[in-house]
Amino acid sequence: MHNIVKNLLNIENNIKLHLDEHNINNYPKIIAVSKTFKIEKILPLIDYGHLDFGENKVQEALEKWSEIKKKNSKINLHMIGKLQTNKVKFAVQLFDYIHSVDSKKLAKKIAVEQDKINKKIKIFLQVNIGDEDQKSGVNKNELTELVSYCKALDLDCVGLMCIPPLSINPEGYFEEMKKLNKNLGFNELSMGMSSDFLIAAKNLSTYVRVGSGIFGQRS
Ligand SMILES: *Cc1c(COP(=O)(O)O)cnc(C)c1O
Repeated sequence: MHNIVKNLLNIENNIKLHLDEHNINNYPKIIAVSKTFKIEKILPLIDYGHLDFGENKVQEALEKWSEIKKKNSKINLHMIGKLQTNKVKFAVQLFDYIHSVDSKKLAKKIAVEQDKINKKIKIFLQVNIGDEDQKSGVNKNELTELVSYCKALDLDCVGLMCIPPLSINPEGYFEEMKKLNKNLGFNELSMGMSSDFLIAAKNLSTYVRVGSGIFGQRS
């Protein structure tokens, strides 16, 4: 078996063991974050049948995934990076999920562009859960208003997403996200990366986004 497939299966297995210990029986899906990696490096996972992949740049994703998505319509492509409004038109054509909606302006643009092609992207609202100055994400005190705005636009909002502050234990942030998500009545929750997917899964994340843990270090 290919090493990259082994890495994925190991992660899946570790999550199961960890959640079983905590009597949680909802296992998150694993988004294989393939940003910066060439398609040859990703192919073993596609051939294995993995379906969820994450990218953070629209242009790179278009080049890597347009053909493959045509051949393999079951693949779900997740936009996990910051999205400029002038790229939305292309993003909605390619992606199935956008995890990084954090403003009314972006929400509105997605609504307009997806209506033109009669598509319904699944949307995560990114929360700046650590109240960090330069970090993307909507502030907690503006979240309810953004949710209402997205619902009024008839966007298919499925849940919240966060990237917690670096180099501190993320558990408190994940617990807070779990509560916010529950209070808003969402079914999906996007949190957890290579360094913290077990803690995220324990806090009921439904999508963990794992890059280096599967594909190795990015250069
Ligand atoms: C790159 C990236 C990831 C994956 O990071 P790893 O630490 O390599 O697992 C997850 N989420 C977002 C938003 C990213 O940009």
